[in-house]
Amino acid sequence: MIRLSRSVVGQEEQLALARVIEEGYLGMGHFTREFEAQLAAYLGGTRQVVCVSTGTAALQLALQALGVGRGDEVIVPSLTFVASFQAVSACGARPVACDVDPETAFMDVADVERRLTARTRVLMPVYYASAAPRLEEVYRCAAAHGLRVLEDAAHAFACYRAGVRVGSVGDVVCFSFDGIKNITAGEGGAIVTADARVAERARDARLLGVENDTEKRYAGDRSWDFEVREQGWRYHMSNLMAAIGSVQLTRLPAFAARRSELRNHYCTALAEVAGLRLLSLPREGVVPHIFPLRVLHGRRDALMAHLRACGIECGVHYKPNHLLARFRSEYALPGAELLGRELLTLPLHAALSDEEQNTVIGAVCAFLESAGRA
Ligand SMILES: *Cc1c(COP(=O)(O)O)cnc(C)c1O
Repeated sequence: MIRLSRSVVGQEEQLALARVIEEGYLGMGHFTREFEAQLAAYLGGTRQVVCVSTGTAALQLALQALGVGRGDEVIVPSLTFVASFQAVSACGARPVACDVDPETAFMDVADVERRLTARTRVLMPVYYASAAPRLEEVYRCAAAHGLRVLEDAAHAFACYRAGVRVGSVGDVVCFSFDGIKNITAGEGGAIVTADARVAERARDARLLGVENDTEKRYAGDRSWDFEVREQGWRYHMSNLMAAIGSVQLTRLPAFAARRSELRNHYCTALAEVAGLRLLSLPREGVVPHIFPLRVLHGRRDALMAHLRACGIECGVHYKPNHLLARFRSEYALPGAELLGRELLTLPLHAALSDEEQNTVIGAVCAFLESAGRA
């Protein structure tokens, strides 16, 4: 089976885990502090970084720290991982689905304008396949309406946008380090911001709302006499996870180069194939988390079944959230619905070999040639 995605971990990660186990404290401690410091340095040294248990937890805590709660609305593109929607509803707020541009799968800012109400608090653009081509328009819209911006950059760790590293600028930016993202900490996520108050609220909320507990945990201690004012959660990042994350950061240049090379080869090999349409995404500085493309003429599901029969795993990123029972909207979103029918994601991960990739490309082309003749 050729895998759609996988973690690329090995001996270095094993040794790092062994060091944590030898020290004997697996929970949040100095390995977490070190990983946060490494991430902050990687992002240029001016940002606050708060590591948490998952990317979903990062989104939820970021929204909570921005003061989002019951009665509030957050506008989020329908075509995203259901995590983006659940993070909003976990705060008691309502995720309001907006459409995406079918050429890029990025948030359609004209549609965002239609979804604004007096209850809108935050715009939540999602880097789709690691790109956010019209993000500056989202910021202009937010500024015009007095809204905050939370960037769901789960796909976009290690990427550049408009010449700057994703996370080094922007209002509040969340990353995911789950098993298949550009780097992994086993699981994990991070909230990145220049807003010290948001960072402080998120730091407390990840440790059950216990105020100012983080520094004690980093020193191997904890608070016994403490104050709690806000709803908190057990969303901190453990030493075990952080130790994996620190190793992965050192391997990132190789991962980034391989992912980019695979994306470039797919683009070259598939650009002219009848029956397919590539998204028009920037490539410069973009380290792709996934390689999605559009399968035209209603053949997506048949191609998917064919690839599966050839031992090739593929995926759909994503089923639009406004079509799910929990998040169903009263209005149609034609761009997201079109992509929900046409998108297919091909295998892409740092351990995919040239031979495997050529098998995938060959199987896609063979199916479309025979479908075209039929
Ligand atoms: C992976 C992902 C998340 C959630 O991250 P987890 O670490 O899996 O919780 C959120 N949004 C998007 C777009 C993602 O791909």
